[in-house]
Amino acid sequence: MKELVVISGKGGTGKTSVSASLAALARRPVVADCDVDAADLHLVLAPTVLERHEFRAGHEAVIRPEACNGCGVCFSVCRFGAVLPVSESSAGDEKQCRDCSYCVRSCSVRTNAVISELQGAAGAEKPSFWIDPTACEGCGVCVRFCPERAIDFPERICGEWMISRTRFGPMVHARLAAAAENSGKLVSTVRKEARRIAEEEGRDLILVDGPPGIGCPVIASVTGASIVLVVTEPTVSGQHDLERVLKLAKHFQIPAFVCVNKWDVNPEMAERIERTSILAGAAIAGRIRYDPGVTRAMIQEKAVVETEAPSAEDFRGVWERIGLS
Ligand code: SF4
Ligand code: SF4
Repeated sequence: MKELVVISGKGGTGKTSVSASLAALARRPVVADCDVDAADLHLVLAPTVLERHEFRAGHEAVIRPEACNGCGVCFSVCRFGAVLPVSESSAGDEKQCRDCSYCVRSCSVRTNAVISELQGAAGAEKPSFWIDPTACEGCGVCVRFCPERAIDFPERICGEWMISRTRFGPMVHARLAAAAENSGKLVSTVRKEARRIAEEEGRDLILVDGPPGIGCPVIASVTGASIVLVVTEPTVSGQHDLERVLKLAKHFQIPAFVCVNKWDVNPEMAERIERTSILAGAAIAGRIRYDPGVTRAMIQEKAVVETEAPSAEDFRGVWERIGLS
């Protein structure tokens, strides 16, 4: 079984258009959209979702107000500014304070003096605290030190992953929740499921639309892959990011192909990029011309090779040169 991962050193190079056309040209592929931070392959493949699964990663601290004695220990030990006072005393306050807690978050010495102040403000009533889920890093320190064991530490739901049906074959894709992390783990989940489906259904190609860049989700996308196809554009930043991503492929000893999208926008730069690629040990998969038909295809929810767009033959050329047909 082969696994082809389409990546790019940077976003906006046309990686998803290439992935969609390769999915249309491949014979019985399983498609995996591993660009989980900004998934958009579904806009072209229009999948019908068959299964949805929660994606859980890490933990988050949650205070149970009924068990809390207001001691403020969690507030003083959290180094991420995630524990905040609930200053009900300022509700309806006509003063200029908007209760944003910026001062509390920014205070580098969350000392007992601050807590005493809060206790003073609360009068006879105990102060209460809450944990901002977007600021909590899930380190568990507050859970460990809470004298009343009043802080729960459930697994965090960071998004969802889906198994769908498309006109080209099964598709595994995902959506990371806003402000959620662990996209590398979600990428690994998507790839694992795609492989399981390919094995169960006897499909011999997994086609992965990978994330842009060279960070953790990209490493999770390419590790153990058979081939990477790097889609780049003829610009200075395109060349710079291509060099970084080719180094990554070399590090993991994965054969790399390079395709220059919109090459005719800057033919000299396109040539320079191809020379750089060859020197870095990559093979040239071809060039794709600038073509407004690519955008029209996307609006129609079609892969470029499903349309009469002039560049469709360029996409076919790329697929043939990779040699998986
Ligand atoms: S450490 Fe525990 S008891 Fe103390 S304020 Fe925080 S949650 Fe409440
Ligand atoms: S788990 Fe860590 S980051 Fe989250 S509130 Fe507790 S101490 Fe702060």
